[in-house]
Amino acid sequence: MSRGDMAKPLLGHRSTEGDPSITPAAGRTIGVLGSGDFARSLAIRLVCSGFKVVVGSRNPKRKASLFPSAAEVTFQAEAVKKTDVIFVAVFREHYSTLCDLADVLAGKILVDVSNNTEINHHKESNAEYLASLFPACTVVKGFNVISAWTLQSGARDGNKQVPICSNNQEAKRTVAEIAQIMGFTPVDMGCMSSACEIENIPLRLLPAWKIPIFLALGLFLCFFTYNLIRQVIHPFIREQKNKLYKIPIEVVNTTLPCVSYVMLSLVYLPGVLAACSQLYYGTKYRRFPDWLDQWLQHRKQIGLLSFFCAALHAVYSLCLPMRRSHRYLLIETAVKQAVEKKMNIWVEEEVWRMEIYISVGIIALGLLSLLAITSLPSIANSLNWREFSFIQSTLGFIALVISTLHTLTYGWSRAFDENQYKFYLPPTYTLTLLVPCTVIIAKVIFSLPCIQHRLLRIRRGWEKGRYVKFVLPSATGEYSSGETSSNV
Ligand code: NAP
Repeated sequence: MSRGDMAKPLLGHRSTEGDPSITPAAGRTIGVLGSGDFARSLAIRLVCSGFKVVVGSRNPKRKASLFPSAAEVTFQAEAVKKTDVIFVAVFREHYSTLCDLADVLAGKILVDVSNNTEINHHKESNAEYLASLFPACTVVKGFNVISAWTLQSGARDGNKQVPICSNNQEAKRTVAEIAQIMGFTPVDMGCMSSACEIENIPLRLLPAWKIPIFLALGLFLCFFTYNLIRQVIHPFIREQKNKLYKIPIEVVNTTLPCVSYVMLSLVYLPGVLAACSQLYYGTKYRRFPDWLDQWLQHRKQIGLLSFFCAALHAVYSLCLPMRRSHRYLLIETAVKQAVEKKMNIWVEEEVWRMEIYISVGIIALGLLSLLAITSLPSIANSLNWREFSFIQSTLGFIALVISTLHTLTYGWSRAFDENQYKFYLPPTYTLTLLVPCTVIIAKVIFSLPCIQHRLLRIRRGWEKGRYVKFVLPSATGEYSSGETSSNV
């Protein structure tokens, strides 16, 4: 970044000089109807962004002290007369009480900021209802996704999106410009029919996370039960030993890495399936089945949950020596060795296994952290496509390979030890290896030049069995054209 760039404010008033189509928004008067939480925060933010603000209240004298001194607080009708753009910071139920203002509001832009308490609560959106009450006004839906708190504290990374819609392009542009000057990112959602969708946005509870969370919980439950049988139920039935104390930490800590590792492989498995489908059908234009489409869209959330489980596993592992049970067992072992007069307890192979296992685990966690950080919108936006795909695809795959090494060094030779097969159940780590190894093998196969080349051609638009026009250089260096089958 040049020194000149550094001197420029990150969020500032957009220059409108030399562009006659853009009305200079900063400095203009903006009206706010209502004097509640949202109106107050909005007024503060507008004043801070360089606008003149006039607030319309039913009781201006009582409410004036709540607003910054730069904002004028007056009666509703007075306020409306002084401006062309009015934010209606009033609940839908009270819109009808504003009908007395219909004459003074005629021809003005009304910004509907309202939210509902339930998804699709009313037949028509609040904005459409407002438009039906004031047919002589132009209604713009927007700012409902911003809370009063965010308005006051500011869009810190300048990246908070404000979806906006209206049937009037000019009005939409004016409101979008106001949002931009306030430090938000306006997103054009089209015409008024999108208002319902915009009003539902703040009411949705983690819509993109539902499937990944259920997936993680399902995997956790399966692996937890499996580990419980092996670590607690088996010693109780076979040796009458009470190992219930293992449940809160040890069983959980052997379950978390299994979930994390399998989830990480599930981030890359849909890509493998998509590539298989493209190779099989010889085209990229055939739609993937819905389930695969959904899976591809949830990869980010699956990856973040994988990182979450890995981070918990690291913390749990660090806490293992703090447990009372660990101290007792350590002392017990030491006493046993002293009684047996064993002086040298050093097992070289075990030492090396543990050193490699921990080191590889730390590297895998580091890579997962990098993947998680770069999937945050503010960081992802600062990367170009190549950097983003290098981190998410190449480094992600390397993280999967390193996690596999971590798992293998943990398991070491246990898969070949028959004592490890409790109730004939193989050690948990052997089960977790199934999907990740399939993904790794598939990726290796796809990287073979002949397959990679075919996949690359398909992704550039080549289709099996379709005749395309080709252009070939002739012996004389001139180009001749003709028709051929593209899969030849
Ligand atoms: P609020 O604190 O209850 O304020 C509502 C204001 O509406 C009152 O202060 C009142 O101001 C005015 N009003 C006008 N006619 C009214 C009437 N007949 N009865 C009662 N009040 C009347 O609500 P708010 O939290 O500011 O929310 C206002 C709007 O913003 C709502 O549509 C809400 O969905 C939306 N919104 C709020 C937030 C938020 O974080 N609070 C976020 C997004 C959207 P006067 O007494 O001065 O007339």
